[in-house]
Amino acid sequence: MPFTNENTFDILAEAISEGVIIVDEKQTIVASNSGAETMFGYDRGELKGKPLNILIPQQYHRGHGGHFKSFLKSSEKRQMGRGRDISGVAKCGKTFPVEAGLSPFEIYGKTFVMALVMDITIRKKAEQELIHWAKIFDESLNEIFIFDAQSLKFIDVNRGALQNIGYNLEELKQLTPVDIKPEYTEERFRVLINDLVQKKTEKLKFEAIHQRKDGTTYPVEVHLQLSNLENKDVFVAIILDITDRKNYTEKLEKKVEERTEELHHTIQELKEEVKLRMEAEAKTKESLKKEKDLNELKTKFLSLVSHEFKTPLSGILTSATLAGKYTKEEQQEKRDKHLDTIKNKVKYLDNILNDFLSIERLETGKVNYKFSIFPLSKVVNEVVYDANMLLKGGQRINYPDDIDGYTLEFDEKILELVLSNLINNAIKYSGENTTIDIQIHVEDNMLVFKILDQGIGIPEKEQEFIFKRYFRAENALLDQGTGIGLNIVKTHLENLGGSITFTSTENKGSTFVIKIPMINKHK
Ligand code: ADP
Repeated sequence: MPFTNENTFDILAEAISEGVIIVDEKQTIVASNSGAETMFGYDRGELKGKPLNILIPQQYHRGHGGHFKSFLKSSEKRQMGRGRDISGVAKCGKTFPVEAGLSPFEIYGKTFVMALVMDITIRKKAEQELIHWAKIFDESLNEIFIFDAQSLKFIDVNRGALQNIGYNLEELKQLTPVDIKPEYTEERFRVLINDLVQKKTEKLKFEAIHQRKDGTTYPVEVHLQLSNLENKDVFVAIILDITDRKNYTEKLEKKVEERTEELHHTIQELKEEVKLRMEAEAKTKESLKKEKDLNELKTKFLSLVSHEFKTPLSGILTSATLAGKYTKEEQQEKRDKHLDTIKNKVKYLDNILNDFLSIERLETGKVNYKFSIFPLSKVVNEVVYDANMLLKGGQRINYPDDIDGYTLEFDEKILELVLSNLINNAIKYSGENTTIDIQIHVEDNMLVFKILDQGIGIPEKEQEFIFKRYFRAENALLDQGTGIGLNIVKTHLENLGGSITFTSTENKGSTFVIKIPMINKHK
């Protein structure tokens, strides 16, 4: 036995934490420590006498033999596993990477080799990982820049970055991120990364413009992180070239803009259509309403005619009958009285008919105003003359006699209609022995007529309805009337640029004021 004192070996070998295996020239294991046995999964002492090959994967057996022999020949201390991977195989068949240092020695004239074996599974894995990451770093299509946290100088960049930015690594090492960001000064950039430097945030994401060596630029999204490399604070910047995204966004924005525009047009068109339809509908409604109003008017007319015409007509009949009875020549005065009454009532009926015709014309839009130049006194005299025939006992009309100088350009018939309506009302709604005052003056280029009476007045609560068609105040119902006159007067006056207002106190009297333009523009 080469080792006479096995204990010496055991004590020495156990003191070493790595695996120790000693083989003889025939590659038979002559000794192993527990580190080696545990590593290869054998029980204590189980390896002794076994060929070394049981610890070496099948595929390396032959090569290993030759290797071993040449190694023995060179008889030098050397470490195996450098430069190439060597593997061990455990008792269970599992292979694992090992590093082995071999030391040949001679004892009792025999050559032995002591192998110091280390399981490098963990180290290999770490190495693999490192290679893996380095590869990812280098092959990443994104650009990765690493630069010093203090000086900001670039330390390393990946291939993607070199390709896009156009500088080589040596050139880049002289530059900082500020040199490739035309929008930034060093101060502005340091402000930007301040939170990372202060470790207030872990990651920073921002968009910027990068400038290539050839001066061209491209938009980028920067993801910046503080890291540590060999005890030095460094920044790792992952750069995404967002040219395509930007183009896409721009295209998208343009498209959205176009669509919005289109939509806007469509909405506009729709609005137009809705407007047209509404107008058409309104027109239909309006004409329907007009038709309804006209029908209403006709019905009203019939009922009013039957009522309003009855009394004057029977009056006419009576007067005509009575007049017929006065056959003697000296009874002319009596005949005249009856004839006056007949004239009166006919005039009244004529007025009502005119009012109705006016409404009809106004409703159907058939009013044609006729302008002419005429002296104001002519119309006033005619109206007062007619009105005089309606006066009650003791009633009198005061009207100005200094209006000869006024010449008007207006619709004569309308002025007549307006004045006679107001004067007739003043007569009708006043008692006997009262005065009706007509005043005329010019004010702000308007001719102002005031018709004042001392009659029943209009109750205050009904005053707001007085111009409504068919409206008649409570205190007026004993007198004949249709409620049409004032409505027509107001409409005509407003059509011709004039106006009508009134003040009234019940049982005291009313004052109606009308204004018409001196120079009529409604030609
Ligand atoms: P009508 O006299 O035929 O009833 P109008 O349209 O001329 O119709 O007048 C409407 C109503 O206004 C009258 O019914 C009456 O109540 C009131 N009114 C008009 N003029 C006077 C007036 N001078 N004094 C008192 N009430 C008046």
